[in-house]
Amino acid sequence: MTDNQVKFTKSQREADKAVHQGSMYTRHKRLVRGVKWRCDLRDDCNGGVVLNDQDIVVEKGAHTHVADWGRCKARECVVDLNGKLNGPAAPPLPQL
Ligand SMILES: [Zn+2]
Repeated sequence: MTDNQVKFTKSQREADKAVHQGSMYTRHKRLVRGVKWRCDLRDDCNGGVVLNDQDIVVEKGAHTHVADWGRCKARECVVDLNGKLNGPAAPPLPQL
């Protein structure tokens, strides 16, 4: 995992979200050099990243606020949980 890689998760409405360095992004538009993702935290924030076809950050805009690592972590955990719930049944816990 390098600083230029992003993780993907889902919003509550099942939209794709990219997580990068404590900020979350929603897909914005296709550019010649990649796909532009916009910061989802503030409506007036100009922060964003451009991801190339390998989902590597090739461009990054400054945010008007501080990163919120906790929020991203929480969202990842929710997705993990959902994945487990939808996946194969977990083995039963041993009886104490
Ligand atoms: Zn931002």
